[in-house]
Amino acid sequence: MLLTLTTPLTRNPAVRRAQELLLALGYDLGPYKADGAYGNATNSAVRIFQQDYGLPITGDIDDRTMNALQISIEALRPNLPSSQVQLPFPLIDLTKDGILPCHYHPERSPIPAANFRGFTLHWTACLMGASLGAWNVCNAQTGIRRDGTIMMILPQALSGPPLPAYVSHGNGLNSATEGIEIEANGEGVIGNSHTWWKEGGGPYEATDAQIAAARAYLTMRCSALRAKGVNPTWIRAHRQSSDQRQCDPGERIWREVGLWAIANLGLDDGGRDWQTGTGLPLPKAWGDRYTAAF
Ligand SMILES: [Zn+2]
Repeated sequence: MLLTLTTPLTRNPAVRRAQELLLALGYDLGPYKADGAYGNATNSAVRIFQQDYGLPITGDIDDRTMNALQISIEALRPNLPSSQVQLPFPLIDLTKDGILPCHYHPERSPIPAANFRGFTLHWTACLMGASLGAWNVCNAQTGIRRDGTIMMILPQALSGPPLPAYVSHGNGLNSATEGIEIEANGEGVIGNSHTWWKEGGGPYEATDAQIAAARAYLTMRCSALRAKGVNPTWIRAHRQSSDQRQCDPGERIWREVGLWAIANLGLDDGGRDWQTGTGLPLPKAWGDRYTAAF
């Protein structure tokens, strides 16, 4: 097999597969993502991948490059249950024996099924780096690294219940939702530098791999829970439960994961003006359906 830059562009499922692997490994395909067309963005990403992996830098996907892509993905997901191999992202289960010297979170009771409603989206507001220890002490059930790797911080199997353990991730949302922390610190409103928390570094907008991983994770989690008789209905932003988290999780994540989950997974945001405690309604800048000021 040889996939290469041609005029007109080569389009086929093999190109799409290679693009999905590149995205899953954290390579940037620009706005095109996995569109199945072998264009300049794919060519550039392939070159960077080849450089990273010590392959001849041609920008073409030959058998050797395709094998390296497959092997890299396999190496990243040692803990992925075999039933979930269709998940295009690696998953690291921090609760598994031997991954860390100790698990930071003590045994916690699950959120009772009668109280569980769904998911809260967050961003970490800083970069966590490669260290698993930083994720171990992160107060959330789930994390998504910049390369799209899903971090299972507390036990809540993709395959359905157990329900998420209670953890203090989101103020008034704690008792009803699983917290998903996306490793990013972007602008709360894209293009408005006053909405960026500079102490957190960056700005680091969420990556394409993270958006795709969050969508895949929510899809699998909803279907697994529903198959076991638990019906998640909420997708909420941390902003909605705390006036100290006005930016959280930012415009891009809300639009591309939150609004996407509403359109595709049957989840809801609580309505245009929904908030709890000291939280704020979702702002106009995050979607046409909202009217609140940022
Ligand atoms: Zn948060």
